[in-house]
Formats: sequence, C-alpha cells, structure tokens
Amino acid sequence: MKFNTSLLHGTSQNGSDQGSTLPPVYQVSAFAYDSAEQLEKVFNNRAAGFSYSRVGNPTVSAFENRIARLEGGLGAVACSSGMAAITAVLLNILKSGDEVIVSTGLFGGTIDLFDDLKAFGITARFLESITYETVSEAVTENTRAVFTELIGNPKLDIVDLDRVSEACRENGIPLIVDSTTATPYLVNPIKHGADIVVHSSSKYINGGGNAISGIIVDSGNFKWTKERYPGFESYLKFGPFAFLSKLRNGIWRNTGSCLAPMNAFMNIVGLDTLGLRMERSCENALKLAEFFDSLYNIEVNYPGLPSSPYYDLVQKELSGKGGAIVTIRAGSKEKAFKLMDSIKFASIATNIGDVRTLVIHPASTIYTHNTEEQCVSAGVYDDTIRISVGIEDIDDLIEDFRQAAEN
Ligand SMILES: *Cc1c(COP(=O)(O)O)cnc(C)c1O
Repeated sequence: MKFNTSLLHGTSQNGSDQGSTLPPVYQVSAFAYDSAEQLEKVFNNRAAGFSYSRVGNPTVSAFENRIARLEGGLGAVACSSGMAAITAVLLNILKSGDEVIVSTGLFGGTIDLFDDLKAFGITARFLESITYETVSEAVTENTRAVFTELIGNPKLDIVDLDRVSEACRENGIPLIVDSTTATPYLVNPIKHGADIVVHSSSKYINGGGNAISGIIVDSGNFKWTKERYPGFESYLKFGPFAFLSKLRNGIWRNTGSCLAPMNAFMNIVGLDTLGLRMERSCENALKLAEFFDSLYNIEVNYPGLPSSPYYDLVQKELSGKGGAIVTIRAGSKEKAFKLMDSIKFASIATNIGDVRTLVIHPASTIYTHNTEEQCVSAGVYDDTIRISVGIEDIDDLIEDFRQAAEN
C-alpha cells in the first residue's frame, strides 16, 4: 500500500463493532468491571482492558496505534501537547548529572524547556548544526541523548539522519527526533536510524487547527543498559518494550499528561487527509518560495529551493519535498509588520500545519523569552516572518503576498 491508501485502510479500526468507519469517542473517565478480581488483573497488566482515561482510553489507543504504524515504530504514547511529549521523553531517560546534545534551531518552547531542566541537573549542550562530526566531537562521558528537530522550526535546517544516527550508535546514545514539521508523509525517521520520534500532533497530523496534542513513537531498537541508564533497570525484562513500559508506568502517567479522547478523535479525522494536505502545502510552499526569490526586497529561506544548502538532503531524505514552512526577511521589523498587516489570505496566528496559511513574527512572539544570541542561532531575526503555508489556491496566495510586499 502506498501512503494515502495505508492512511485509510492500513491502520487498525478499533471499536468498529457497529461498523462505524471511525472509532467511537469514549468520553469517560473510568471503566467499570463486573468483579474486583477482574479490575485487579487489569491494574496489574495481567489482563487487557482500560481502567482510567489518564492511564489509557480506547479512542486514544486508536490514535496511538495509527501513528505507531505510520511511523514504523513499536508503539506510541499520546500526550496532552507536543511540549508534554518532549518533556516525557526526556524525563523518561535522563537524571540529574546527564547531558543532552541539542540543536540551536529548536522550537522556542523546547529551548525554554531545556532552561527549566537545568534546575533538575540536566544540561543541554547546544550545537549550531547537528552532523556526524559535530555530534561525535561534542559527546562526553555524561552524554545520554541527542535531541534534534528534523526540519528546524523556524530555522529550516535539515538533519542528515543516516549520518547522525551513525554517530549516536557509535557512542551508545539514543537519537530523539522531533519530526513535527516533516510528518510521516515526508519521512519515517526510524527507517533512517532514529530511536525515538516525537510530534506536536497539534500541527500537521491534526491539520485543522482544532486540538492541542503530542505523540511519542519508540522504535524499540535502542539497547538500554542499567550501567548508563540506571532508571531502566527494572524495565529491561521487557526487552524492546523497555522504553515504552517505563514511560507508561512512570513519568507519563504520573505527570498526568494524557490526551483527551475527543482530541484523539479530532486527530484521527485529520490523519485521514495528511497525505493530501501535505502534498498540496509542500507544492504551494515551493511555488511561494520561488515567487519570493524573484522579489528584490525579500530574502527567502526554503529548503526545497536549489539555492538552499539543504537542497541535496531534501532530495535524498525527504523525497524532494522541502516541507510546508517558508521564512522570509522583510528588511526591518516595521516592514515585516506592515507586510503581515496587509495580507488578506493568511491569518496572523502562532501555529503551523493548519489548512489555512498562517504568518507570525517569531522574534516578538515565540522567541520573546529567548536571548538575542539564542534567536540568531535559531534563525530568528528582527525582520523574519514565518509562513505556514496552507492549501489555498496558489494563485490567490501569490497575488496576496505580492500586494502585501508592495505595500
Ligand atoms: C509546536 C511545536 C512544538 C510544541 O508543541 P505543542 O503541541 O504546541 O505543545 C514542539 N516542536 C515543534 C517543532 C513545534 O512546531
């Protein structure tokens, strides 16, 4: 099956005992049992079943199963937001004294999170670019993970997963990839050696801008050892499921970062059209980037343009598609604001991956908590506008941006 067919026919259709084409929304907190003995079994993982929606819910499971299969992972755990997913992954692996190698091109909220983790003794080592060479050189005896975005939002730098995962394997550390902006439509990071994949499914997976959520997919490939990851000791008996069982029975459940059943359902509905939306948005993004490239007063950054340093990697790793985000530099903050205020077919909003085109000035919003140095190394300048390209008719978009840029 190819991508779109597998979205519609290749994933489990849990709970369709009435023939419903989508899983029902189990909008409940708890699940009742006929006997105390039965609930005891469920609680102790000796019988399949659900007990309480913070711990598991059939609608949420249906979403998790779809994403796990789509990404080629062993299993998935859904979370209340993308940030909750990233937090849970890190806290499932790390302890005080550990170091993580991370890219500077990260989403602003993730950079803020690494600041917060300092208080717990977890240190982030920021690298301008994540490559085989930079990672190999930055590893110390305390390094316990590499965390990077596949297509940095909004830096739009792209990581060569085959090479970087090689560096991680050589050093016995897991590679965690935030693949929000790439989506499974462009690439399955696990096939390129990533150990764990996270998504802010609030974005392209949902697609309609109607629910906040995140998801963690584990490949089951990383070999945890009790010497380097002491927290895993009692989970090693689960073999490839060590990471997922530790997560489910530990930090994910205990921080209460579960996904609401209704939001899982909204994501399942959105997922059906992920392929169609991504195809259209990537095509629109390339045409819009080519249009900006022809303007003398605008500087454009889009990895799918032949002038981008990532063009070859886009061909090799992302089957020639550069994603659906374009950033432009308007010359000054004033010009950027003027351009944004003149646009009719793009909403000024802090989101990406909506069917609608969205624009934002990252420096004054998402990165307002970050230092100037952090901003610059994340590709955020005072005149940068990030455009999350939607599925509108491209002629309308180009005309609209043309009049806004001339304004
Ligand atoms: C939006 C985003 C996040 C955070 O996700 P939320 O669902 O908003 O919590 C993390 N990483 C990337 C790349 C994002 O775009």
